Order: sequence, then C-alpha cells, then structure tokens
Amino acid sequence: MKIALFPGDGIGPEVVASAVETLNRLDDKYSLGVETETGLVGGCAYDATGNPLPDSSLELAKKADAILLGAVGGPKWESLDYSVRPERALLGLRAELDLFANLRPAKIYPALINASSLRPEIVSGIDILVIRELVGGIYFGQPKGVEKLDDGTERGVNTLVYTTPEIERIAKVAFESARKRGGKVCSIDKANVLESTELWRRVVTEVHKDYSDVELSHMYVDNCAMQLVRNPKQFDVIVTTNLFGDILSDEAAMLTGSIGMLPSASLAGAKGMYEPVHGSAPDITGQDKANPIATILSAAMMLRYTFGKEDAANDIETAVEKILDEGYRTADIHSEGTKLVGCKEMGERINGAI
Ligand code: NAD
Repeated sequence: MKIALFPGDGIGPEVVASAVETLNRLDDKYSLGVETETGLVGGCAYDATGNPLPDSSLELAKKADAILLGAVGGPKWESLDYSVRPERALLGLRAELDLFANLRPAKIYPALINASSLRPEIVSGIDILVIRELVGGIYFGQPKGVEKLDDGTERGVNTLVYTTPEIERIAKVAFESARKRGGKVCSIDKANVLESTELWRRVVTEVHKDYSDVELSHMYVDNCAMQLVRNPKQFDVIVTTNLFGDILSDEAAMLTGSIGMLPSASLAGAKGMYEPVHGSAPDITGQDKANPIATILSAAMMLRYTFGKEDAANDIETAVEKILDEGYRTADIHSEGTKLVGCKEMGERINGAI
C-alpha cells in the first residue's frame, strides 16, 4: 500500500500525524504492508519551492495508490497571486489525477446527536453518502466568463455540460458504493428544466440496468434540499452533478454537527485522495486542540475504497464510536459532562481502541 502523505499547513500536520498512527496500528494488526512517503503541498510547499504543488509532490502523488492530505492555506499566503495560492495545489491534484468522484459521508454518531441543529428524532440514525461529480459540469463547461456589451452592461456566462461517459463513470461509482452500504441510490437532477440533467437522468437509468440489485430513485434538486432537512433518513447514496453536489454535501454534512468529524474521498477508480472536509484552522494551529477524527475517518475511507479492506475500515469507525461513547471530546465537540482531550490524546485513545 503506497500512500503519499501531504500534511500541508496549519493543523494539517497535527491531524495527519494521528491518522498515520492509526494506519500503523492497523498495519500491525492486519499486516497491510503500508509504505508512506511524505511530500510538501500548499503554503509550506510554496515557502520551500515557490510552487504550492512542486513537480516532486505531483510525481509522488502519481506513483502512490492513495494520498492522505491534511489541509492547505492560511493567512500567511492570502496576499499571494491566485496562481500560487496554497489552494491551487488541491485543484492541481484533482485535475492531474482526474479525481472525478467526490465522496462525502454524513453519519451521525449517537453520542453527538445534540450537536446537530435538527431535532434528535430527525437526525438519529442518519448515514448518507453524497457522491459529487468533481471535474465536470458548470464549474468547467465552456464558454465561461464575463463580457462587456455594446450598451455598457455586462453578460456573465457559465455552461452546464455533461457527456455520456462522464455520467456513466460517476453513476457506476454510486451503484458500486451502494452495494457496500444500504443498497439504494437517489440521483439528483433538475431534469424538468435543464436538458443536460435530463441526459444525466437517462444515462444513470441506463447504467442502473447492470445493477438491478441496487434500488434507484430520482429526485429534483430543490426537493432534495427540502428532504434532507425534513426526512434525511430516507437517503443512502445520493449521486449528483458538481454544482448540486457542492451545495447538497455541505447541507448533508451539517446535519451531523461539527466540521472536525467529516472525512472525504476523491476517487479516480481505485486511486484516491483522502482528506478531512475542514481547512487548516489557523486559529487553533499548534495548540493541540484540533479534532483528528475527520482525518482518521478519511484513512478509514482509504482502506475501504482504495484497498478494499472493509474489516480494517470498520475497525477504525467502531473505535471512533467507542471513544465518543466513553465521553472523550476535543474542544470543537465538547459539552458539559464530557471529557475534554487534545488532538494527540484523542488520536491515541482511538488507536488504543482498535
Ligand atoms: P477551517 O475549516 O480551517 O476552520 C473553520 C472553523 O472550524 C475554525 O474555527 C476552526 O478552528 C474550526 N475547525 C476546523 N477544523 C477543525 C478541527 N479539525 N478541529 C477543531 N476545529 C476545527 O476554515 P477557514 O477558517 O475558512 O479556512 C482557514 C484556511 O483553510 C483558509 O486558508 C482556507 O483557504 C483553507 N481551507 C483549506 C481547505 C482544504 O485544505 N481542503 C478547506 C477549507 C479551507
């Protein structure tokens, strides 16, 4: 298992260190054959080389089976030109590796049920996987831009474009994922208004013929936005376009409470980049306050999706649940009556529970 580690900036190195301990623990338990190599991306890479994604890091990413990334960015680099901003490294990795499927689970842990802004009976038991198409759609379609018109006004354009192969490959990821979970896919579109998503619906329906063991339904995006807060438990896997997925994955994530708990995967086939949803959290950097769980759960996704090690992935998730049940909390999820611990101790406790 060749894993490229990019701790990045801010709390990135702190949370990645905990997740690496988790991988080492599982390596001992299951003899996984984990090999890690660390590289620079983001602001730290810019400081060292003048480039947020140096060639050596890109090479490392390309030859690895999977990438574990912490976070990039921070106030130090905010005045840089956009072309060398730390965040460019993420876009560069996604594009260079063609990471077309973004997977974001939104699962509620019973111990954290009160962290949600929705009533416990609405959110208890939710376990949703939002699959967002990541390298196509309106964020990339041509033509795009803002032009001046003769009458002095302006015209802004973006193009929502999807081709059959782009939809087929993301639909397959959704059906394959559903097979490993609750066996249901809900495809989200706006086929009543947008022709390109009418094609989306047709192609997803066609791909479904090879996955008749999985239940497929379709929903318009406006309805989905409502259903996520009305009755989120109806969803298992949601698959959708880049723009709709951007919005719905944040909405689904917030059902569960803290950003420090949310992992993600961006996949191109089995190869994937795994990272917490949160950023570099400059306000708590270097204080041992970060919640490492999002990154540790990202390592679990890596074991599941890139390496097919379902047992090892389940081990991590069970250990996280156990430590939360025992009442341990980092500051972001801490409440009265629970035990406050730092990043390092939270990681150690989870690893100890594996
Ligand atoms: P952020 O996610 O870094 O922080 C938002 C808030 O959540 C902060 O109060 C922070 O302390 C808290 N938080 C985040 N992760 C946490 C964790 N693991 N444990 C405990 N608390 C946590 O978002 P921001 O403040 O908007 O951005 C800070 C920097 O991170 C910016 O430079 C931004 O561009 C960058 N960023 C990077 C990524 C990425 O690398 N994928 C994503 C988002 C933002």
